[in-house]
Amino acid sequence: MNYRHAYHAGNFADVLKHAVLALCLEHLKKKPSPFRVVDTHAGAGLYQLDARETEATGEWRDGIGRLFGATDRVFGALKPYLDEVARVNGGAGSALTSYPGSPVLTAGLLRAGDTLIANELQPDDNKRLAKHFASDRQVKVMALDGWIALKSTLPPPEKRGLVLIDPPFEQPGEFQRLAEGLKNGLDRFRSGIYVLWYPIKDPKPVQRFQRTIAEVAGRAGIETALALDLLVRAPRHPEVLNGCGVLVINPPHTLERDIAPLGPALARLLQQGPGAELICRRLVLNKDGSSS
Ligand code: SAM
Repeated sequence: MNYRHAYHAGNFADVLKHAVLALCLEHLKKKPSPFRVVDTHAGAGLYQLDARETEATGEWRDGIGRLFGATDRVFGALKPYLDEVARVNGGAGSALTSYPGSPVLTAGLLRAGDTLIANELQPDDNKRLAKHFASDRQVKVMALDGWIALKSTLPPPEKRGLVLIDPPFEQPGEFQRLAEGLKNGLDRFRSGIYVLWYPIKDPKPVQRFQRTIAEVAGRAGIETALALDLLVRAPRHPEVLNGCGVLVINPPHTLERDIAPLGPALARLLQQGPGAELICRRLVLNKDGSSS
């Protein structure tokens, strides 16, 4: 386990993932009944942007560094996310010095009564996460293998909620593990919103992965799944990170409407070369598992 999220905190991939996560949480809050969030690969929590690791790559400068304080009105739909980033930095108008990882972002958006299970296996990051939430009774920090946590924490007693599956993709076979993880999750908690993150280097394995997810979700009787693929440049060189995607199973009906119009402006803002775009696509789901 070499991956440490501190090197990547606040990069373009976090921006897409966390913006979508915040919109899904806001949707869950439209009903008064409480919900639970399970974050299977939670990271360290809060990141200082001047920390040695974060400064070493400076990836945040091409991510949240470009979006924070952007005045383009189209980004109004990202208000819940951007407000949380501002909050951990001391409120509107403050300088950007910290970045909230998924558990800190989520915890900031919970209401009294909602709960978060934040699971992180890497011991140092787990320790930081546990320290951050030491006095927060709505958040339980766990140190399980994320794929096991996915099974042992579902279904949530509230019967409403969201599962974020955000593995590090440092080992071969992660696409397959992600698809199996989703199947295990849906077997236990079919009505949950699932947010799955994946990198886009070579688009071909990503297309195969999306077909597999469509098969898994279709067989589970899921009706809607949305793939949001952000390319920061045309994927001509498959050895580099050309973009990333977020797959949302059981997405809020408002998600596509909120995100799709942002596509051109977000792609322009986060681009790292020609051919940047945000592709928003519903997967075709069939109950017999076929993908056409
Ligand atoms: N979700 C976080 C966020 O958005 O702020 C980032 C998570 S990062 C991409 C992936 C995390 O998974 C890393 O912190 C890594 O230490 C952790 N990890 C790696 N293998 C794991 C496993 N088998 N179970 C749980 N966590 C794991």
